[in-house]
Parts: sequence; structure tokens; C-alpha cells
Amino acid sequence: MKRVYSAADAVHCGWLKSVLDAAGIPCLLRNAYLGGAVGELPVNECWPEIWVLEDADVARAERLIREAEAPPAETPAWHCPRCGERIEGAFAQCWQCGATRDDSAG
Ligand SMILES: [Zn+2]
Repeated sequence: MKRVYSAADAVHCGWLKSVLDAAGIPCLLRNAYLGGAVGELPVNECWPEIWVLEDADVARAERLIREAEAPPAETPAWHCPRCGERIEGAFAQCWQCGATRDDSAG
């Protein structure tokens, strides 16, 4: 059995555990309800922890957690096909001429 994750946020840990559960990795959440002991113990010893039961699953669990924690990929900026204005990836339409990203230059 190996600890693969620890964080102050029990809700976040519970969510990550559900990610591992969904992937079929046997795991358990420890310290989820020790919040009341904070102040008597070193804080990070009270943090909720996710433990994977089978050592063989550890690498996969760590990868799943890393993927779940990664920020969503940013859409790259694009250039308006009509006027050439540079538009941030979050926007689908040119603020200057109203063309959309998918409009052809013609
Ligand atoms: Zn434009």
C-alpha cells in the first residue's frame, strides 16, 4: 500500500479518489475527518491522504492524478482569416470585424 496524494482539501481528495475508483484502482481515503485535530498535530499530518492498495497500481494512479490536476489545455491564439487581427484563444470571433475562427479567407 502506498500513499499517492495528500492535500488540505478533503473535497478535492474525495474527488480524486472517485477518479481512481472509476479507473478500477482499489484505493482509500485516510484522515478525511481529522479536521478537528488541526492545531494539536502538525498540520500536514492531518491532511487527507489517498492510498493505493496495490503497488502495481501506483504508477497508473499517480498518472491519473497528474492528468486530473493538470489545467485544461489552453486554446492557442489565432489570426483572423478576414482582417488578420490576432485573437486570444478564448474567443471564437474576431472583435474587430466579426469573422469567426472558421471563416475562410475567401
Ligand atoms: Zn477580423
